[in-house]
Amino acid sequence: QIQRALRSLSIPLDRLHIMKGHMIQDMCKGLSRQTHAQAKVRMLPTYICSTPNGTEKGNFLVVELCQNQVRTLLVTLYGDGNMSPQMMYKIFDMPEGITQGEGEALFDFIAQCVSQFLAETINSDTKKSEERLPLGFVFPFTCQQTQLDKAELLSWSKGFNCSGVVGKDVVQLLQSAINKQELCHVDVVALMNDTVGTMMTCSMEGRPCEVAIVADKGSNCCFMAEAYLVETADETSGRMCVNTEWGCFGDDGTLNDVFTPYDVCVDEESCNPGEKRFEKMVGSLYLGEIVRHALIALTTEKAIFTGTDIAVLKEKGVFTMQHVLDIVNNEEGITEVIRVLDSLGLQPTERDCGRVQQICRAVVGRAATLHATGLAAILSYMCQTRELETLMVNVGVEGELYTGYPRFEEILLSVSRLLSPECLPTLLPSRDGSGRGAAMVTAVALRVAALRREVNEVLGPLKLTRADLEKVQALMREEMERGLGKETNETASVRMLPTFVSHTPDGTERGDFLALDLGGTNFRVLVVRVTEDGITMASEIYVIPAAIMQGTGEALFDHIIDCIIDFQTKQNLVTTMLPLGFTFSFPCKQVGLDKALLLTWTKGFSASGCVGQDVVQLLRDAAQRKRHTGMQVIALVNDTVGTMMSCGYDDPKCEIGLIVGTGTNACYMEEMRNVGTVEGDQGRMCINMEWGAFGDNGCLDHIFTSFDKVVDETTINPGKQRFEKLISGMYLGEIVRQILLVMTEKQLLFQGRPSPKLQTRNIFQTKFLSTIELSNGLPLRQMRAILHELDLEASFEDCVLMREVCQTVSLRAAQLCAAGLAAVVEKMRENRGQDQLSVTVGVDGTLYKLHPCFSQNLQKTLKDLAPNCNVTFLLSEDGSGKGAALVAAVASRAANAMQ
Ligand code: ADP
Ligand code: MG
Repeated sequence: QIQRALRSLSIPLDRLHIMKGHMIQDMCKGLSRQTHAQAKVRMLPTYICSTPNGTEKGNFLVVELCQNQVRTLLVTLYGDGNMSPQMMYKIFDMPEGITQGEGEALFDFIAQCVSQFLAETINSDTKKSEERLPLGFVFPFTCQQTQLDKAELLSWSKGFNCSGVVGKDVVQLLQSAINKQELCHVDVVALMNDTVGTMMTCSMEGRPCEVAIVADKGSNCCFMAEAYLVETADETSGRMCVNTEWGCFGDDGTLNDVFTPYDVCVDEESCNPGEKRFEKMVGSLYLGEIVRHALIALTTEKAIFTGTDIAVLKEKGVFTMQHVLDIVNNEEGITEVIRVLDSLGLQPTERDCGRVQQICRAVVGRAATLHATGLAAILSYMCQTRELETLMVNVGVEGELYTGYPRFEEILLSVSRLLSPECLPTLLPSRDGSGRGAAMVTAVALRVAALRREVNEVLGPLKLTRADLEKVQALMREEMERGLGKETNETASVRMLPTFVSHTPDGTERGDFLALDLGGTNFRVLVVRVTEDGITMASEIYVIPAAIMQGTGEALFDHIIDCIIDFQTKQNLVTTMLPLGFTFSFPCKQVGLDKALLLTWTKGFSASGCVGQDVVQLLRDAAQRKRHTGMQVIALVNDTVGTMMSCGYDDPKCEIGLIVGTGTNACYMEEMRNVGTVEGDQGRMCINMEWGAFGDNGCLDHIFTSFDKVVDETTINPGKQRFEKLISGMYLGEIVRQILLVMTEKQLLFQGRPSPKLQTRNIFQTKFLSTIELSNGLPLRQMRAILHELDLEASFEDCVLMREVCQTVSLRAAQLCAAGLAAVVEKMRENRGQDQLSVTVGVDGTLYKLHPCFSQNLQKTLKDLAPNCNVTFLLSEDGSGKGAALVAAVASRAANAMQ
């Protein structure tokens, strides 16, 4: 019978594995918005999102409501890494009956304790200063918290049952009571559970502590969860401490098969039968009771105490936790067991003593094992959700079971190791209970609030309001009109260049076309075959040696013709004469579709005799010199136009081209009657806006921030391309870097120590923004490589803040781009006299294509700014190849149609 009893109290490992799984399931259920109401493990958000970093300083008051005491504590922190906080405390006994009386009386009493404590402890110089005194309130009951300083009591427990408190905000109740005591400088800034206080207490030295277990009269655990997983709270970035309330685990029946008949008796005799089933197997309030019921049952079965009267055991509570511990902790001999049982009025035999000891060990051992199982569930969950291979974490522990039972620690570690081998917890004993931690929570809350104010101050100028964006849109519209006007064109910052492209593809284009792409990353020659079944392409990349780039124009264009001949030979295209579209990505003044004067070379080209010349003619001259008749130059094409055309082939509504890559630019189909710079009023013409230069006349000065000014000053073209410098890939990383430097200087980041690397110009690449912003809720992991590259020592909070900076900069870029586009689509809609415009934008550029939020933000803002336009975005493939060929194809089609 003894063996059977002991077996029922020991849970096999495979059953523990299953239990761990159930615990994780219930945790997920508790965190999810849809299911949290049904979850037994409540997973309550605490709104504690940071652990101490050692810079906290000042005086902090704590008041802690305990079983039958009120504890007050004053902690002084020196911002010295919290190595030597000064602490003063006082404990007040609660008057008889107050825990069952009116709520107001309870809170008045707590406030009186605070008042008396302050009167006795605060020395005159602290009193003199009019400083406010923040207070943290440790309230060890289940609350629905909606802010750090807002928490409704859900239910009393632990023998408390004051009227008029359930459903009320207990922070408010305490603050009112304190105000009645005329302690107007005391602000209740944080409320927390004792478990959370323990976690924070253990966070004081060295590494942060991210899990805490309280193994006391009751049992509970809290840990730092990824905030985005805590769906019941609005916080989405960083981490938040979650109060698991795991005592209720099993209330849905999942633990039924491991309950022993003794557990059933304990539960039935409790004041809340059927509830807190897990807690009743592991809480020290219940362990003596479990033993008592086991002894009663075994006596009935005549396995122990045969022939003695055990009537004393019938009384609830006679067998205390202390009795259990005294018996368990005596490894040698049974003298202590005899003493304990004697003191209860039992007359045990030697054999009885041995058996009672075995039962006690089994009950306490099981409690430790179950704690370990719960811990394993928490650790595995943390490891999984942080996407780590191994989790190293500090676990704060406190409570009677932990301090009173020396093997607790060993069992907790070894069993959790078996169940979660991927996790390496380090246990930290909490010496000062939860009070010191509560002071830390309070201190951290104030530090975080101050940090937030300063961060908002730095980022504020980068945040654009709807009115700001409307103004940008209106200014863009104004500049567009000026650029189109014959007289005003010269002074417009948006040049609105005519492209002489007057049609987009209609799908009837057929034939083989050549395309040249000069001025992008590579020099390419392509053949584009447009058939009924679609478009196929072949291309080759050619090298232009530096000597040729910087030699004579003749040599350069001869070289280009050589490449074309080589390509046509390889492609077996020598016998036919093919129309050619030429993407020439240098600033030109276009005077016809096939006539464009080079304004200046850029990107390392400096071939002589070209500036001021018609580049199409230069190419034709070279063809003549080389006697090459296999091609006919039809069009010179800007890459924005190519982008529009390549998408226009698939979607006839595509009448806008947009590029957001190294730079940014846009083009669109404008009515000829509005184009004052070209003769004729019939039909439309594509206008290359060159919108990157928007603002170069000072019209955007009001939105430039100090960061933008620094970035502009360090470019090769200060004061030029001002709009582009707010938006495109070449600059976003650099803007972020400037902000990070300023934040570091203000001690908001990296503990005020920037790495020398971060001070290097352009070291922060725009693609970093994509990586950093992609990390949903898990910034640290994805950012590791970047931080390494920049030699940065970043805390978790640093990472969260870096992400916010990136988000702010990329959001502004997308919004500005949208404001520009809104001006374009609204103008097109008005041009056409439509209430509603449906139009497609062909887009190219790596920033647009690869940044995780840019396109969404752009589209959302555009919808908002131009609600009457239904705008679709289509990604362009190879605008400078396929697009250029299509310009030639459309021009050939139009020419054929005219004949
Ligand atoms: P271009 O505009 O010269 O034709 P791209 O369209 O490829 O070239 O754009 C290049 C720009 O895209 C670079 O300035 C670079 O900073 C940026 N970029 C590259 N990768 C990414 C990425 N993953 N996310 C955001 N921007 C990127
Ligand atoms: Mg490009």
